[in-house]
Amino acid sequence: MATLILHPGKEKSVLRRHPWLFSGAVAQLDGRARPGDTVDVVSHEGRPLGRAAWSPASQIRARIWSFDAAESIDHAFFKRRVAASVARRNALPELAGQQGLRLIHAESDGLPGVIADRYGDTVVLQLTTAGADKWRGAIADSLLKATGCARIYERSDVEVRKLEGLEAVTGWLRNAPLPPGGGGAGGEGEPLVIDENGVRMAVDIVGGHKTGFYLDQRENRRRVAELARGRRVLNCFCYTAGFSLQALAGGAREVVSVDSSGPALATAQRNLALNPQLDAARAIWREADVFAELRSLRAAGERFDLVILDPPKFANTAAHAERAARAYKDINLLGLQLLAPGGLLMTYSCSGGIGAELFARILAGAALDAGRNARIVQHLHGAADHPVDLAFPEGEYLKGLLLQVD
Ligand code: SAH
Repeated sequence: MATLILHPGKEKSVLRRHPWLFSGAVAQLDGRARPGDTVDVVSHEGRPLGRAAWSPASQIRARIWSFDAAESIDHAFFKRRVAASVARRNALPELAGQQGLRLIHAESDGLPGVIADRYGDTVVLQLTTAGADKWRGAIADSLLKATGCARIYERSDVEVRKLEGLEAVTGWLRNAPLPPGGGGAGGEGEPLVIDENGVRMAVDIVGGHKTGFYLDQRENRRRVAELARGRRVLNCFCYTAGFSLQALAGGAREVVSVDSSGPALATAQRNLALNPQLDAARAIWREADVFAELRSLRAAGERFDLVILDPPKFANTAAHAERAARAYKDINLLGLQLLAPGGLLMTYSCSGGIGAELFARILAGAALDAGRNARIVQHLHGAADHPVDLAFPEGEYLKGLLLQVD
């Protein structure tokens, strides 16, 4: 096994159990390693620090698998880590028994580059790093064993794989289902259906965003159901209508849903049809750019009692934070202006480059310019199956605020 030697002092973050080693921290690689191979990590003075996956193409040159320098990184290692990750979910009452559930949340579950989401008895696996890619077989077998799930679909088609020098990999990895109609679990392109907080939702594991669904918003969608009774709701960036249908389930007077994607809105309407208990007459769909639609709603003098803003990532890195900040301010300013007296704004950022404090400051600026007094009544986060390792603050990508205006 090759040995990765750090520059003097660069062991500090590793000793705080942060799993990333940037190129600037690496003094040299002693020996030969191919992408994804396991290497020993030592300080400049030769102190053993752990074992890591080597990613020569990436600025993050290595990611630590284990902070125990004596732990073997083998099939049994992945079996242990995967089983522990699944067991953590089973131990939390709000997660146990969920049909849609994140089973492995990468670094925060001790498995950098590994995302695994469960939809019914299908697992969708997304591998984003050279190290994770190398151990696909061990991870897949461990997932089937730990969950009792029937099959695994791989969705390793995210952009970040390019930074690792990896091609996209998609398709059935374990136990492809029978053709459509025969398997009950959906063939290629035929969506699965899960129950989330009493609402049926189609999950397109082949073509949908992420692994098919935004599982991280599960608890926040439940919160919308609690808040919606009697309210007129505006759901911006609605995707497949997760928040919209929870608002209807919670007794909203009307729900206006906006998204620029025609296919997302088509799935949204199919999802509504999957739920005959909901009053479809109260749902209004708008295929539009949110930035423009908010302006035309304002021009038309429309008012809402609950506005939801869950945009896509505006900033991929800290370098884009400034432009992203302007975009967040713009939609939030408009959203606040559309609120009726006493109305609620539920607003999110999933940009890694925008921290929670900055997000709150952006909102303060938006409220000032909107001429509305607003107070934070709740801080919102990803659900408990998207934990954040304390040593890895980068894991806290989703932050939200529930604001109440005068
Ligand atoms: N709230 C959703 C997830 C939102 S994903 C849920 O809980 O499932 C972000 C959505 O924003 C995508 O559906 C994308 O099509 C849409 N989108 C991106 N830019 C947009 C824009 N400028 N105007 C309208 N929709 C946009």
